[in-house]
Parts: sequence; structure tokens; C-alpha cells
Amino acid sequence: MNLTANQFKKDFGQMFENLYAFDIKNSTPIQQYTALGNYLRILYSDDWNKTNKKYLGDQVKQVYYFSIEFLPGRMLKSNLLNLGILDTVRVGLNDMGLDFDNIVKSEADPALGNGGLGRLASCFMDSIASLGLPGNGNGIRYRYGLFQQKFVNGYQVELPDNWLRNGNVWEVRKENKSVIVRFGGQVGLVKGANGNLRPTYFNTQNILAVPYDTGMVGYQNDVVNNLRLWSAEIPPEEEIHYHTIAEREQVNKITEVLYPDDSNYEGQILRLRQEYFFTSAGIQSIVHYYKQTDLTWQNFPNKIAIHINDTHPSLAIPELMRVLLDEEDLSWEQAWEITKKTMSYTNHTVLQEAMEKWPIDMLKDLLPRVYQVIEEINRRHIDKKLPLYGSDLTYRTAIIADGYVKMAHLAIIGSHSVNGVAKLHTEILMHDVLNDFYQMYPAKFNNKTNGITQRRWLHLANEELTSLIDDKIGIDWKTNPAELKLFKAYITDQATLKKLGEIKLKNKEKFAAYVKNEMSIDINPEALFDVQIKRLHAYKRQLLNVLHIIDRYVQIKEDPSLSIQPRVFIFGAKAAPSYAYAKQIIKLINALAKLVNNDKDVGDKLKVVFVENYGVSLAELIIPAAEVSEQISLAGKEASGTSNMKLMLNGALTIATLDGANVEIRDFVGEENLFLFGLNDQEVQTFNENGSYHPREIYAANPRLEKVLNTLIDGTIPDIETEGRAIFDSLVYHNDEYFLLKDFDSYIESQEEIDQLYKNKTKWNQKSLINIASSGPFSADFTIQRYAEEIWKIDSQLVHLHHKTFLTEPI
Ligand SMILES: *Cc1c(COP(=O)(O)O)cnc(C)c1O
Repeated sequence: MNLTANQFKKDFGQMFENLYAFDIKNSTPIQQYTALGNYLRILYSDDWNKTNKKYLGDQVKQVYYFSIEFLPGRMLKSNLLNLGILDTVRVGLNDMGLDFDNIVKSEADPALGNGGLGRLASCFMDSIASLGLPGNGNGIRYRYGLFQQKFVNGYQVELPDNWLRNGNVWEVRKENKSVIVRFGGQVGLVKGANGNLRPTYFNTQNILAVPYDTGMVGYQNDVVNNLRLWSAEIPPEEEIHYHTIAEREQVNKITEVLYPDDSNYEGQILRLRQEYFFTSAGIQSIVHYYKQTDLTWQNFPNKIAIHINDTHPSLAIPELMRVLLDEEDLSWEQAWEITKKTMSYTNHTVLQEAMEKWPIDMLKDLLPRVYQVIEEINRRHIDKKLPLYGSDLTYRTAIIADGYVKMAHLAIIGSHSVNGVAKLHTEILMHDVLNDFYQMYPAKFNNKTNGITQRRWLHLANEELTSLIDDKIGIDWKTNPAELKLFKAYITDQATLKKLGEIKLKNKEKFAAYVKNEMSIDINPEALFDVQIKRLHAYKRQLLNVLHIIDRYVQIKEDPSLSIQPRVFIFGAKAAPSYAYAKQIIKLINALAKLVNNDKDVGDKLKVVFVENYGVSLAELIIPAAEVSEQISLAGKEASGTSNMKLMLNGALTIATLDGANVEIRDFVGEENLFLFGLNDQEVQTFNENGSYHPREIYAANPRLEKVLNTLIDGTIPDIETEGRAIFDSLVYHNDEYFLLKDFDSYIESQEEIDQLYKNKTKWNQKSLINIASSGPFSADFTIQRYAEEIWKIDSQLVHLHHKTFLTEPI
């Protein structure tokens, strides 16, 4: 976009006065931010409109990415970057005497997701637009995002996240695109105009779904795609039926809060309402859109791809069937053919507790017609597969069984593609968790390893590193991340290595200032910064990290003169409010931090920092400062991980188990440039099958580990009587489900290797450089290119030739 700083100052100053009717000199940063956001939205509105019209006019195939979570992070800077006016606006604001960084921080960080799944959806939105692909998001406009986390006496406390307090400059309410979503009631057959019997719904509760659209600005390519988030309201014509506040509340509740659950199945009826609400609204709006063209229904899958991100939107399958059967009068066979060809599904987890299933009666009462459709899908599935696969296998794949409706089964049967999110994860799906389906539908299964957008996670988050890379290899890596590998040429260039170290130190100083400011903890920027940032889950094994920290503490206390590499252990993690064990671990980490950080024998040798309220904005501050990336989940449990990719891209060295995408990171970066430890997934499986794991024996036989574990129950760590005992018992007496004791020695050994390497700054920086240079393959641009070509069959609409040809595959 062409814009000079002078033009910007003039236009923006005018914009401000038009909005607020007073001079910008007297304004707050929030007002400045609001005016700037409005200014930008208007600036790209023409491209937004044009993009939309082009897709419709040319009747190009589009993908709709259905996700119950999006975690976009603040959008001001990324929109400026993608519009190509970040520097211009920064200079202009500075000329006006305004503080750019303060304006940026005034934006609320929309926490409309829990973690990896939601953040993936937002990285995908960036890549889809930046590759010029016709694609849209479909989700929920939660009134309150994921809770704000505070620590009180070391315990997690959850406060509401009122992210819309100051409005939202990026969204556009489109009541003209509203649709009605129906719940409850009964289904009957009524004779239609053509004399055929047609399912008709009675006594339904009708909810108005109002879309709020947000432009997804592509990277300097004039493309603006659409993210559509739905809000639930009472339809104006039905206001009269709502007599009490409680009745009205019931409607608002549908889009009020994001479930703070991550990998734990949440069996609330409200959750089911949310899932149907945004799914039905999305399907209806796609069908309205399609009917603007005069194409036949048979052409629907040639123009529309619908992607189901995890099972939460899998009601899209019976909902599209319902619309095609009941509203468009298609035959079952036609409707089913269209639905299957349109839908594709991503599985995100192998954890049994996360597999969605709904009690039959709940689904039947809430969605009677949808339930009938699911029953018929199930009946036909069983009829067709029984003669081919026999009854054992066939009935194991039933959608309705044991009193439940199984959403993953529905998603697989109703889609033409089922993908996992890392090579290992997809293997586990095919050969273990979803093996029954793999036997029936081998061709549906495929892998699409997750990715991250280098534009947010390197360019925006780490501007100093970005300019170093730009200096050395040029700027093409921003649109062709494969080019990052050119940076390897500087592996022996002392000046570059030195510069890399200086940039890291600067980023560490910046984070240290934040920690001092917010938490009044002094950390030494020269110490090694060791980072584990992700949702708190037993399988992610933050507790193994804790055992290592305690081990260091014990050693220092035994010999205060011990010479040891100073380290700062940095945690960021929210626990689901109902996940007691995760909350006990939070309390333990905070108690340990208090003990360690205030012990004079310890000093700078060991610090523990647990930041409150981890989210995208904090990730952008922490990741550029990280030197060690903790990716230590029990092998076989983490589907992919994406913080592993972000940290590597910023030069952190990974300590990892062979789990999720860590396996591919190892393949690209080379075994000598990361630190692997612990059991592999096969070994874990063997222990589990044989019941041959006995943590009590390890506890009894390993004096070093015994000392560490005893600190949980002997008062060494104060104020954790209940939590320490519960955690100790889970490890020693309740069979240590995640094999912490088994992996302890090998983890400690890897950590010691890290200390050794850190002594040699040149070698360390070389490995850091190789990590940065090897992270191109983990760009979401590649991931999305594979989805586009292999699953969605959509084409880039970029007219600029150079945009079209340069995304080369990494080797
Ligand atoms: C990337 C990201 C995650 C995912 O982290 P994992 O370590 O892959 O679980 C979660 N939360 C936020 C805010 C992120 O940016």
C-alpha cells in the first residue's frame, strides 16, 4: 500500500477529530489505538470488498475453516505489517509525538481460544490470506474470552476476560447476513406443495445468529479474506416471548464464554449448543452464498470446501445434510455424495478423555432433526460395512453406541479426508487410535504437520533478529520461508554469531525488565533462560521440569559453593479451572519459586519465574528471549506442538522427547543440534501393555531422585502440605501415569549437556543459528499449501506472478 508519513499524519489526525471531536493531543492511548484501528480498517475496506467480489464473480472454489477457537493475538501491528505500512505509521506517530508501543499495548488480546488449536487456526488464517487463497474462518464471537489468570498465595484464580470493554475496531456487524438457528421442538411430516412429505419442525426455540466479520489481511498482496464470528441474540420478532431476565440470559449465554478446557472433554449441554450454533449458522450462510450463483447442487463440492478443526464442528455434516434434504429437496444419495465431498476433518488429539461424545437423549432433545439424520447416516454406514468387514469391526465404528453419539466417528464417516497434525501423530491414528477406520478407509488418512506464521512469530515478535536475517539473506523468507536455510551460510561467520548473541541478550534484558516491573523479581540477563510455555497438563510434564529444578536446588543447598551454570526457569501456563491436579502443580511451582528466589545460598544460580496470564502477547515477549525450549511431553501424547516451532525459529535450542512434531524438528535440524531424552512412544506402549512399570522401585533405588521427591512431603518446600502430598502420591503410589520417574535420569543428563554447551558461546550460537535456519519447513505457509493442494483443491488468486511461483518446498 502506498502511503507517506506526511499523508498518514494528515489523514489520521483528521480521522481522530472526526471520531472524537477533540484534539489528539488530549487523548489517551486507547483512544489513539481506536482511531488508528478504524483508520486501518477503512484503509483496507476497498481490498476487502474487492476480494469478496472477485471470489463471487469468478466463482472460485473457497474453503471455510470451522473452528470453535481462534487465538489471533493483537492485530494492529500484524495488519500494519501486512499492509506494508508498519514503518511509515511508526515514523508518522512518532512525528506526532505519540508513543507507538503504548498504542500497540492498548489493544486487548482476544483470548478466543485455549492454546495450540486456536492459535493454529489463526496462523492458518494469516497463511491463507498471505498465499492469496480463497478462504474464510467460521467461529464464535465469545463475549468473554478465556479467563484472566491471577496468582493469589500461589494459587490460580480466574477472573473474567472482558475483552470487548473498549469495543473492537476490527469487526463489522452484519445483521443483514443473520440467520436463524433452531433448537429443541419436535419433527413431523407435512405434505409440501409438490405433494411429497417433508420434515417440518414445531415448537423450536429460534435463536438469531448475527455475524461479526473481521478482515484477514494478506501479506502485502492486496488480499483481505474474512473471519466470521457469530453472536447469539433474541430474534426481534420473538422478543415478545421472552418475559424474564432469566429467559433472555439463556440466549445470551450461548456465545458468552469460551470453555476453558483444553484436551479434556467438557460434557455440558451449553457446549453442545455452542457447537451447533456456530456450525449451523456457518452452513446456512454458505448455502445462502452458494445460491447467489446459478450453479447446480452437484457443483457444490467443486466450489465449496468445509474444514472441521477437531470434532467440535462435526455437526456440520448432519447439518449440511439437513439443509440439502429438508430445505433444498435433494435425495439422500445426492445430499450424502455432496456432503462427503465437501467435508474434511483434522484430528488433534489421541487422549481418550478428549474424545467428544454426547448422551443420545441430550442430542435428541436439543436437536431432534439433526439426530434423525445422524441415525440414518449410522444405519446406512452399518448396513454397507457389515458384509465387508464383519460385525466386530463394523460395530466398533458405529456413530451411535453405548448410549452415546461419537463425534470423531461422525467426522470420519462424513468426510473425504482425515488428517493428523504431525507424522508420528498420524501414524498413531492409523495404526492404533483410529485403526478400525483406517482399515475401512485407508485413502482418507493423510498427514499435515502443523506450522506457524513466520510473520508474527519472527518478523513482528523479534524485529532485531529479523533485520539481521534481512541483512544476510534478503527479505524473501517472509513470503518464501524455505529461504531461511540460506542463513546456514553464516555458520562460521564470527560477526554474525556474535550479533546473534547480542540480539538474544537484548531480548532477555527486555523480558527481565518486564519481570522486574510486573513481579518485582530480579533476574540476571546473563543467566541461561529456560522456557516452558503451554497449557498446564499432566501429559505435557511441567512436573518433570519442576523435579529438575528441585534437583538443582537440593545440590546447591548441599554445597552452596557449587559452581553451576546460572539458569532462569520460565513458565507460562493456564490450568482449566476444574483440573485439580494441574492447579496443584501451579501451586507447587509458585511455592518453589518463592523458596528459590529468596534463598541467599542460591542467588543468581537459580531463579524461577511463573508469569501470570500466559497468552499470545506474552508469548511474543518470552519466545525471543528463550534459549532452551522445553518440549518434554510423554512420547505419544502430544499431537504436534507449535511452541516448539516458534521457539526454534527464534534461536532457542530444544530439549525434547520424540513426540509430536519434535520428531520432524529432529529430522530437519539434525540430532546434534537438539537434546533428546527419555522413552520413545513404542517403549511407553510396551510398558503400558505389559503393566511392567513400577515407579516405587525407581523411587527406592535412586537416591538422587528420592531426595527430590521427598522435598514434596518433608516441609523443604513450604506451604504445599496438601499439594505436595497429592503430587508425591500420584508419582510414587498411583503409578506415575506419565513416566516422570522413568525419564528423570535421562532428562537430568541432557540438562547437564546443555550447561556444558552453554559455556562455549560460539558453539551455542552456531547451534542457535542452525535452528533458525532449519525452521523454514515449519512455516504455516507450507502446511496451508498442502491443505490447499491435497485436501481443499483451492487455487491462489494472486495476480502478481512473483507471488505465485516462489513458494518452493523445503528439502
Ligand atoms: C503456540 C501457542 C500455544 C501452543 O503451545 P504448545 O507448546 O504447542 O502446546 C499455546 N498458547 C499460546 C498462546 C501459543 O501462542
